Amino acid sequence: MPEVQHITRTGQFLTTVAELSMLSPRMRRIVLAAPELAGQHWPLGCDIAVVLTGPDGREVRRRYTVRSAAGERLVLDAVLHGHGPGSSWAQALRLGDRVSFFGPRGELPLPAESEASWLLALTDEAGLPAIGALAEAAEAAGRPLRVLAEIADDGERYPLPAGAEVRWLARDGRPPGRPEPLIDALAGVRPGTGPGFGYLLGESRAIVAVRDALGQLGLSRSEVYAKGYWNLNSRPTR
Ligand SMILES: Cc1cc2nc3c(=O)[nH]c(=O)nc-3n(C[C@H](O)[C@H](O)[C@H](O)COP(=O)(O)OP(=O)(O)OC[C@H]3O[C@@H](n4cnc5c(N)ncnc54)[C@H](O)[C@@H]3O)c2cc1C
Repeated sequence: MPEVQHITRTGQFLTTVAELSMLSPRMRRIVLAAPELAGQHWPLGCDIAVVLTGPDGREVRRRYTVRSAAGERLVLDAVLHGHGPGSSWAQALRLGDRVSFFGPRGELPLPAESEASWLLALTDEAGLPAIGALAEAAEAAGRPLRVLAEIADDGERYPLPAGAEVRWLARDGRPPGRPEPLIDALAGVRPGTGPGFGYLLGESRAIVAVRDALGQLGLSRSEVYAKGYWNLNSRPTR
């Protein structure tokens, strides 16, 4: 049998929107297709920079996680938070639209079981696609994953594998991008036995505060993968 070659080519891809669906009222699934996507390796939780037009007509780029990929298709899930070119782009997409992007970049680490016997992920909506990809990889490796997920309301529960132990934290009208929902929920979390590893994805300043709070579970900074996925009150044209 011929060996299947997987290459990671970072560069620009020109794709077509092949499928669109709503996972929830504020999360749109976007399936992109192009022959060049086949054979490409997409590291776990990697992202792409989609090329968009900003409100002043200039080019801007917005980052979206590769939720999954198969053959010539790539799946993204975009939060329709209602402000900014990324959200407007995701909302306005139609089947057959052309989408150009650069990537892939980045990768979520999945430490060996000897290095981390328990895994805990904290995220808001923007990080849920990455945590979805992580949860599938963890499940395939027989590694239990606990998730604390902040969402706008219970209608925004995101499909995660059945093996993930998820606690949904609904804001129910409170503003997004604050550390309190995740910090408050951490009080009810017990560390597992042995060394652990944490993932923390969300608003850039909020995750700094949450990362400090993760120390109460005995997780050192090197045992937490923390990444700011968006900036509260960033200027929409940036
Ligand atoms: C590695 C990486 C992977 C990412 N993957 C995904 C993904 O798979 N799906 C996804 O939806 N996002 C993802 N994001 C986040 C996304 O890139 C940002 O939310 C981005 O700011 C969206 O651009 P925008 O043009 O919609 O808003 P911007 O122009 O950046 O901001 C406009 C306004 O909207 C607010 N805003 C921006 N994002 C959010 C949000 N998520 N919730 C509430 N308010 C917001 C800002 O505070 C600002 O006031 C990822 C980011 C990174 C760094």
